Amino acid sequence: MATADELRELMRTEGAAVAENTQGFNEGRYRSVAELSDYEELKSEARAIKEDAIERLPELLDELTETVEENGGTVYLADDAADANDYIREVVADRDADRVVKSKSMTSEEIEVNDTLEADGVDVVETDLGEWVLQVADEAPSHIVAPAIHKSRESIAELFNEVFDPDEPLETAEELTRFAREKLGEKIVDAEVGLTGANFVTAESGTMALVTSEGNARKTVAATDTHVAVAGVEKVIPTVGDLHPFVELIGRSGTGQDITSYVSLLTPPVETPVVDFDDDETPLSEFDTDREFHLVLIDNGRMAMREDDQLRETLYCIRCSACANSCANFQSVGGHAFGGETYSGGIATGWEAGIEGLDVAAEFNDLCTGCSRCVNACPVEIDIPWINTVVRDRINREGDEPADWLVDGLTPDAEPDSPSLQKRFFGNFETVAKLGTATAPVSNWLASTGLSRKAMAWALDIDPRRELPSFERETFVDWARNRDSTVEDPQRRAVVYPDLYTNHVQVSRGKAAVKVLEALGVDVVVPAVASSGRAPLSQGMVATARTHAQRVTETLAPHVDDGRDVIVIEPSDHAMFQREYEKLLDEATFTDLAENSYEVFEYVYGLLENGAAVGQLPSGDDEALAYHSHCQQRTLGLEAHTVAVLEQCGYDVVTSDVECCGMAGSFGYKSDYYELSMDVGDRLREQLEANGVQDRRVVASGTSCLEQIDALLERHPSHPIELLAE
Ligand code: SF4
Repeated sequence: MATADELRELMRTEGAAVAENTQGFNEGRYRSVAELSDYEELKSEARAIKEDAIERLPELLDELTETVEENGGTVYLADDAADANDYIREVVADRDADRVVKSKSMTSEEIEVNDTLEADGVDVVETDLGEWVLQVADEAPSHIVAPAIHKSRESIAELFNEVFDPDEPLETAEELTRFAREKLGEKIVDAEVGLTGANFVTAESGTMALVTSEGNARKTVAATDTHVAVAGVEKVIPTVGDLHPFVELIGRSGTGQDITSYVSLLTPPVETPVVDFDDDETPLSEFDTDREFHLVLIDNGRMAMREDDQLRETLYCIRCSACANSCANFQSVGGHAFGGETYSGGIATGWEAGIEGLDVAAEFNDLCTGCSRCVNACPVEIDIPWINTVVRDRINREGDEPADWLVDGLTPDAEPDSPSLQKRFFGNFETVAKLGTATAPVSNWLASTGLSRKAMAWALDIDPRRELPSFERETFVDWARNRDSTVEDPQRRAVVYPDLYTNHVQVSRGKAAVKVLEALGVDVVVPAVASSGRAPLSQGMVATARTHAQRVTETLAPHVDDGRDVIVIEPSDHAMFQREYEKLLDEATFTDLAENSYEVFEYVYGLLENGAAVGQLPSGDDEALAYHSHCQQRTLGLEAHTVAVLEQCGYDVVTSDVECCGMAGSFGYKSDYYELSMDVGDRLREQLEANGVQDRRVVASGTSCLEQIDALLERHPSHPIELLAE
């Protein structure tokens, strides 16, 4: 696992370039997909094709083998990296090749074929510009699509000038690119073997789709007489017609290009003449067209992933990189921290767990905060945060944490083995909150003493720079229990869900929600309900989260059956009800709660749309607000309701387009991640301190967002529901 020192160093050296490039890609994605009227349909179509292809994979592999052999090529199904490398080195040796030119291929990175061939004395040349820069620099890729994304133009110029010592120092992007093209052109014409990856391989015709920005894959194939294509078995899809949604989506999702510069469809062995570049005399048509083609399909753990109900979804991944680009933590530290042996970004956990094992996934798995911003970005609708959670759970179960006695009694969880002490503490925060409330204000005073903070830093790795929540003596539930409803002729009846923070820490927002709902004619009850399970789920404690989900639904179901709506103030808990409970509960129980629960502003918006009088709420009198919505609220498409209601009430609202505040529940409390959390938060701080925004009152929907903004700004933020109750 990357330490705070390592993350700090990466943020210092690579952070600026990674942030600029990934944020640019991410903005490009939004722009580009907005122009696709059938974007969601294309995603569903792509997903269905991958589901079908992985389901029928053995059959498709047989069909593809037959097709390629009929076309005149060879197929080799390699069990693992060593098997694949042995085959490739034999092909290269049989061809008596001195040089292999490669186009970009993550699968070839995975098997480390360069090292194998170089050990045999073969000159292996990367022809993708980014890969070549890294080969010259002897560095590892930091991004699955743009491998040198962490390098600035200046650092590449410095590298080229030092290594190649050109007559005139290189400086501009154009000079650097031209120089690289000339160098690579010389290498390509002398090569005997061309090694490519394949974005997709179609079983029906053996046609491969290669998606590149530079056209170098096509050159690599055309300029050599022996083509070796290396691809994971999951790249096989049934037909050329099935390529359509992927071609539409892959460039838009990854780099924000409507279509990548080159989409090469090859059905090897290609019939293009093999040109002798030293022969200027012979017409092209007279060169020999004899070519060899070897398709090396690699298992390397994939077939086992296919049998794994949770990791199987990883095989639908088309490696577009949208999950990396849309991830706030990735934008700060890049793939050298947020990645394993080969793969980086959100989905890397699935790939690395399946291919390399849990140990490698454990190195970076905790960098996924479950913010879910990658979910809508993924063109094949993979639930990437869920894969991260499941793998975290498996990593926890492999752990051996001997110090359970330290938190004995604070960890009434359902984990059979031992997640780390820190994870068990945060995963059982409900117990901590109950204790904190029962003993407040002493608990708050005690927790803030220097000695306590030192103990928490030592035992739990809680960063002393982070302010701790302050528990209320009277919970939201207790307050509600001691009052009568003010509504005589209710229009609707509802339960306000007392989430963990509203119940124990930010009780005022619960009271505000009740006041607002009653003003709009809703009869409200606030029963005692278990916490949603968000806290244990974020620590990878899936069994404990499931227990919470069951307790929550057992308590809420009678109210729902009685016709009450469930209103949720905290967006991350609402997201549990709408998304994660689907994985934790049976379908009927999940659906019942999901269909009857509403984020509080979604509900208020609905009430106003259905005739409730906005005049029952206090007027905003044009007060200027800056609103930051919550990441999971955005994923559910619910941030617009808050803005609409505030505007109806007469507020002047500007919204932040920063998608993640960086706090993410317990993440920002952890010593290893505090500085990363603040680095991510800095983007939000910049927006909230920008001209025209710096004097606005700040409101935010999420507990974590409120805590983070409080730490980032002089101004104290509040939940928007509190404005409507003033
Ligand atoms: S998981 Fe989805 S978003 Fe991430 S790289 Fe794969 S296809 Fe792209």
